[in-house]
Amino acid sequence: MKTCIYCGLEKQEEDFSDEHIWPDALGGDYVSGFWRTDDVCTACNNMSGVFVDGAFIKSFLISGERSYDALEYLDPVKPTGILPLSYCGTILNVPTQEGEIADYWVCAPGANIIHFRAENEDAAWKAYVGGDPRRQSKRSKAGRVVVALTTVEPYWVLTALASVKHHFAKADKFVTNLVLPSTAKHFKALDLDDPQHLADRRFFDDFESRAVKKEFIHTRASVALGADGRFLAKLALAVGYKLFGAPFLATPYGLNLRSAFREANVEKRQQIPIQGTGYLRGVGLGEIGDALRWPGGWVLVLFCHADGLSLTVQPPSGRRMVIQVTDDPRLLSGLGLEYRDGVVWVSVPQASHAVGPIAFADYLVHQLRHTPHAELQALEARRGSSSRLPPTGLPD
Ligand SMILES: [Zn+2]
Repeated sequence: MKTCIYCGLEKQEEDFSDEHIWPDALGGDYVSGFWRTDDVCTACNNMSGVFVDGAFIKSFLISGERSYDALEYLDPVKPTGILPLSYCGTILNVPTQEGEIADYWVCAPGANIIHFRAENEDAAWKAYVGGDPRRQSKRSKAGRVVVALTTVEPYWVLTALASVKHHFAKADKFVTNLVLPSTAKHFKALDLDDPQHLADRRFFDDFESRAVKKEFIHTRASVALGADGRFLAKLALAVGYKLFGAPFLATPYGLNLRSAFREANVEKRQQIPIQGTGYLRGVGLGEIGDALRWPGGWVLVLFCHADGLSLTVQPPSGRRMVIQVTDDPRLLSGLGLEYRDGVVWVSVPQASHAVGPIAFADYLVHQLRHTPHAELQALEARRGSSSRLPPTGLPD
């Protein structure tokens, strides 16, 4: 028997599974073992994957973060890269077929993408980009995707098709305006003798004619309040246990973190006293903050200060979130000295690579170009240069 960090229940060993504290969608497979644990039960792991990590990763703002600077990691020679698609919301002013909605996605540069999916979804999925993520893993429920290319440059055509295939693995995939390359096996041209295809073609014509007439496409994207706070509470709960063990979970603040992680109701969650700052407020750290940003990277910093230990999470755009892990002086007195100076991890999902733990000072002097750090240099070397990528044929 052992105790689950997340729910606090005692369960059998076989009821536990490997939990990515830092989600695999954000590079969790590549960060050090510090960000993994086998002390989380399978039920909590599954719940967290969909409703905590999933709600954060699939939120409109974070979906934008995932495509930020992703181009930098494309190979300028081989068009084998996959870009995260950017979500532009559900289209409101182009009529769809009964019972369907149309989501607008972009692969930049390369393609406009319309995803047709069933409208009758539980309200719980409203703030997930593309709707219920679990439907996308079922072929019968994943909907249809129609792609219109915005460039004829083969490099970008192949990149866009590979990216759409990756993102919409189980959906039926069609193209409107190109002769398919022989490698694009997962796509079909629209067959206008098929009533469904004809309806999709008409939707696309309507969509594109508005652009020609310089009309706007109206879209709506919902944002779930507090998805960031719940995710941060989970990170702090797991990190606190990693550093301090079971005594941390018994502290009043540790119990509050657990309650914040488990509470699904956002109003009730906001009553729980947790110290931190979420995504929308951001945190200014001045010049040091500017030096922290890593293109396409998520920077994680554990830092001990006068009031306690905090975790900073900095997404690719440079916006910053912070959560307090603990303020308990008895726990802090036993903490390794390295945390007084700060410990950093950098996770770059687009490069399938991460670095850390390294000392905050080493990270900073590397970023300020004073003293290079070998591992960070190797991570930098995975960045191509966007100036070496083929021209897109699109106006700037
Ligand atoms: Zn559990």
